[in-house]
Amino acid sequence: MIEKVLIANRGEIALRIHRACKEMGLSTVAVHSEADRDAMAVRLADESVCIGPAPSANSYLKKSQIIAAAEITGADAIHPGYGFLSENAQFAEMVEAHDLIFIGPTAHHIRTMGDKITAKQTMIDAGVPVVPGSEGGVSSISEGKKVAKKIGYPVLVKAASGGGGRGMRVAETEKDLETAIKSAKTEAKAAFGDDAVYLEKYLGKPRHIEIQLIADTHGNVCHLWERDCSLQRRHQKVFEEAPSPALNQAQREEIGTIVAKAVKKMGYRGAGTMEFLYEDGNFYFIEMNTRIQVEHPVTEMITGIDLIREQIRVADGKKLSFTQDDVLLVGHAIECRINAEHHETFVPSPGKITDFHAPGGPDVRLDSAVYAGYKIPPHYDSMIAKLIVHGRTRNECIMRLRRALDEMVVGGVDTTLPLHRKLVEAQDVVDGNYDIHWLERFLGLK
Ligand code: ADP
Repeated sequence: MIEKVLIANRGEIALRIHRACKEMGLSTVAVHSEADRDAMAVRLADESVCIGPAPSANSYLKKSQIIAAAEITGADAIHPGYGFLSENAQFAEMVEAHDLIFIGPTAHHIRTMGDKITAKQTMIDAGVPVVPGSEGGVSSISEGKKVAKKIGYPVLVKAASGGGGRGMRVAETEKDLETAIKSAKTEAKAAFGDDAVYLEKYLGKPRHIEIQLIADTHGNVCHLWERDCSLQRRHQKVFEEAPSPALNQAQREEIGTIVAKAVKKMGYRGAGTMEFLYEDGNFYFIEMNTRIQVEHPVTEMITGIDLIREQIRVADGKKLSFTQDDVLLVGHAIECRINAEHHETFVPSPGKITDFHAPGGPDVRLDSAVYAGYKIPPHYDSMIAKLIVHGRTRNECIMRLRRALDEMVVGGVDTTLPLHRKLVEAQDVVDGNYDIHWLERFLGLK
């Protein structure tokens, strides 16, 4: 039985996991780098262990040090959060080999979904619609040309091990294909140590719509509706909402059911997200994330379900605490990712936060681990807060979000708050009328 959870992450997600644990009556262990001694999760956790110097390669990615910290403190389970080791199959195996519980799926499922070529094939076999493209990887330029001709230009070259928008190149015509394949391979090799690539039809104006799932080890699988994460910059999500303004209830029920069936067929356990592109009424699977996602709170706000709590429960062998019929969809929620970056140049702005005021009031949630006096270290991701707002209707949600964004104060560093304040005034955002390229056009990048 899980009684003590080691949190193998940092920042807001470490605090989020700590909060879920405390509400379940569990003890927490925070691991941290030398740069994160003053982190809020470290201050609040029952115990903490320093696992190495600031660079994540020497701390948050050091599997053996994290497992040693779990053994020293007598933790029963490890929650990996998102990023870092959350989708590392070898880590999941090591955790289990040390008789600890990995709060996540099996190593097998992490591995299968971590390779996007295998993931796509698995989805085809499970009856999930995918983006038209190569069957498996593309090993030569001439093979790529053949496939591209068949699916039609423009095409997207994607890395099998890709993540975070890296290892992706568009080829508008056949003469761009060779360069696109070569540069996608080079980038993928450098970032993931694997240069396998595949081809997909490049969709011109899709929305990014993803379905949240959770499964227990007793054969119960539920979907928790969708999130629309189409507002992206460099394939990175900036603003997410649920439900999607583009879908009606029948469409969301249909795709949710297809996805839950597929996950049941796989024998999957834990939380996961199936990501789709949605264009002209059709869904196309792009990838599955086998972890909790940054944007999970928007789903929590519309369903009232604590996803981290459920992750811990199912990892502990318990049944999901709800059935599909219990998964409500109430009102509307939006999340803004607030980064310590200049709002126009996106240059990171680490340093000391001199003033900090969190917005509050009804249905306003701020997931953040920063505070006045906190020094943002330069070594990690620049996201410092997620502002999540709920309303009975989308309109109420947007009015509340405007109000909350206006209340929020972060002094001493640059943040992307001014961008979010502009976004919630933009007519297309108010109308829900946007695709994955909208934000880059808005920013004048396209
Ligand atoms: P990553 O794992 O790097 O995030 P994804 O496969 O999830 O890669 O794709 C990230 C983003 O790239 C998508 O949300 C979408 O904006 C864009 N994208 C991916 N595949 C396609 C495609 N076939 N056509 C157009 N855009 C795509």
